[in-house]
Amino acid sequence: MAQTTKYIWFNGELVEWDKAQVHVMTHALHYGSSVFEGIRAYDTPKGTVIFRLKEHIQRLFDSAKIYWMDMPYSQQAVCDACRLTVRENGLKFGYLRPLAFIGNVGLGLNPPKGANTDVMIGALPWGAYLGDEGLKNGVDVGVSSWNRLAPNTIPTGAKAGGNYLSSQLISREAKRHGYTEGIALDVNGYLSEGAGENVFLVKNGVLHTSPVTSAILPGITRDTIITLARDMGLTVKEEALPREALYLADEIFMTGTAAEVTPVRSVDQMQIGAGCRGPITEQIQKAFFGLFNGETEDKWGWLTPVND
Ligand code: PMP
Repeated sequence: MAQTTKYIWFNGELVEWDKAQVHVMTHALHYGSSVFEGIRAYDTPKGTVIFRLKEHIQRLFDSAKIYWMDMPYSQQAVCDACRLTVRENGLKFGYLRPLAFIGNVGLGLNPPKGANTDVMIGALPWGAYLGDEGLKNGVDVGVSSWNRLAPNTIPTGAKAGGNYLSSQLISREAKRHGYTEGIALDVNGYLSEGAGENVFLVKNGVLHTSPVTSAILPGITRDTIITLARDMGLTVKEEALPREALYLADEIFMTGTAAEVTPVRSVDQMQIGAGCRGPITEQIQKAFFGLFNGETEDKWGWLTPVND
């Protein structure tokens, strides 16, 4: 049975979990017309905060724009609704899922003019996505036989429901092969991203990550890590990376709202570095998790309190 909380915010109000339902003729169910976000709330010494809420809601609106979906609320209203949903569910920490979708507007592929976009926000308690053990010791990953989306087909810069068919192929294949996660190459054979994570390599003390032209979702955690690493005096390069750069890296880690900063200890059964979390990865994790335990100063205004 899936986990539940008390309320879902649905089209402007909090409704009880069981009442937040849609019709089977919902457009998004048939044609994939949804855009969404995944956001974390953390329990900090200053109370519960939502991490990079503004940037996530900006990306939600950007995704909707690409698909010509009219958002019936302002960005501020959706931010406030996220805070309300965490608060009213009594969560100290958790994972938020805002989703905007085309609802029951008829069978036509093109929604009729003026058709409303439905918006919901769920919030659930949620721990480490790739496991607590993985955060410490690293996870085993495999390069997928599936490539990420080709440019000018389905835009990877939008976080749309349909993109996650690609992610499901990658992730389920990885699990069948005994890996924790799959990493995909783009159609040109360059490193792209994990099923739900961006990828960083460390080589000779320098951080490398795939550019937006390698069919990635420009992750907000990716941006956070680039910012924190540069602030720590590390060099970060965004550049196309060949597959073998993975095998020859000193360290690898994956980033994402769900995965946070997860070290990778092997790729395709080949040991990476010393086969455990590397020292730079540990330093990056310390800076990242320090944002939530108070050890890293939030110079960037990334933490939005849930309570006023
Ligand atoms: N790539 C994909 C495909 C994802 O689903 C995610 C998770 N949203 C990421 C990268 C990481 O993005 P973020 O750090 O914004 O969560």
